[in-house]
Amino acid sequence: MGVINRLSGIFQPITVTAKASNLTHKGVTSKSQRLMLELGILQQANTGCFHFLPLGLKSLNKLINIVDEELQNIGGQKMIFPTLVKSDLWEKSGRASEMGPELLTLQDRRDHKYILAPTHEETASHLLSSIAPISYKTLPLLLYQITSKFRDEMKPRFGLIRSREFIMKDMYSFDLTQDTALETYQKVCSSYNKIFKKVGVKFIKVLGHSGTMGGNLSHEYHFLTDKGEDKIVKCSKCDFIGNQEVLTDTGCPKCKSENSLTYETGIEVAHTFMLGEKYSKPLEANCIDKNTKKHTLQMGSYGIGISRIIAASLECLSLEKELRWPDSIAPYNVIILPPKLGSKEESLIGNLGEKLYHNLESAFPCLKNNVLLDDRTSYTIGRRFIDAKRTGYRYIIVLNKKCGDAIPLYELNDLHKDQQLYLSENDLAKYIKENTDFE
Ligand SMILES: [Zn+2]
Repeated sequence: MGVINRLSGIFQPITVTAKASNLTHKGVTSKSQRLMLELGILQQANTGCFHFLPLGLKSLNKLINIVDEELQNIGGQKMIFPTLVKSDLWEKSGRASEMGPELLTLQDRRDHKYILAPTHEETASHLLSSIAPISYKTLPLLLYQITSKFRDEMKPRFGLIRSREFIMKDMYSFDLTQDTALETYQKVCSSYNKIFKKVGVKFIKVLGHSGTMGGNLSHEYHFLTDKGEDKIVKCSKCDFIGNQEVLTDTGCPKCKSENSLTYETGIEVAHTFMLGEKYSKPLEANCIDKNTKKHTLQMGSYGIGISRIIAASLECLSLEKELRWPDSIAPYNVIILPPKLGSKEESLIGNLGEKLYHNLESAFPCLKNNVLLDDRTSYTIGRRFIDAKRTGYRYIIVLNKKCGDAIPLYELNDLHKDQQLYLSENDLAKYIKENTDFE
């Protein structure tokens, strides 16, 4: 039998009681940020920088696994680019001045200038220019990483949604021609659709604005919520949907209808760009075709805001005082609450909690490492139930006197369906299997 995940062994500094949770934290600007701080998912380190505490990291790793799986399915190769990037590269692409004070810069002891990179188009192009031109046969080449990025935000806010240090997945594609580059672009977009379906928060893909990134085509992925900072425009006369930034006048840019546009707000969670030669040309990232003729590589760039998705999901799904997670990235899906130490129920039930823990894990492989035992049995069930509900574990299983029946019955509380059921062990496993959205 495997190790039991016990709540007493998890560093989760819950800072405020349920009653007091409407107290305002200093500098808190969104619901997800407040709840993540109150419930020990995150801790603020300094302005716009956060500690990911163990439960937060567990969620983050689940998301990273989803992204890795889908990107590797389309041939994405994971690697790590250095975070410290020579400023010269950004001078060559022209972005050093375009991004201006948002770039975090520093100088080493030899007075060389560096950037703490927010993105790596220059770095990836430089990598390819620093080796002999690659053969067309190795294309398309898809290189990606999931690492910390930096942006000197004027006003960091909403916690992980607009922070100065954040975790981003950035991928760069290289192709021989514009046509194959477009094919690669579409392949990555369909991979993104799969990723967001798996995450399970309602999303939309819209036409995006290329901004300082450059290039000629871009799309954004958004979670729709009235807390979003981006305005999404839809046309009621055709299928146009885009970021408000792409509008140039009052009519629909596609069908030209007047008065057909409606607006919604969203949080941008991913962005894709067709870049053409904007970076590969100045940085001399080349390849050789079948006649050994040299070509500038056609490039694409694809970001996913990993830490931002955690916060944006919680912003969309949570209640005012309780976290709610998508099943796919919840730190744990099930929590078991055994009786209080020294209670009548405890003597009646014994170590049924541990047995149930192992049986659930073996009945349902997706639950492996996704069940938690709240062994803080010096606290009452009531107190632990409140913590479990606020932290947002979807299935809270309470072991009470019905567990002492000839056929033990378990109290199952399903937070997503807002219902309480009494089920036998078999029915419990069946219910969780049928109702949990792991894909
Ligand atoms: Zn239209």
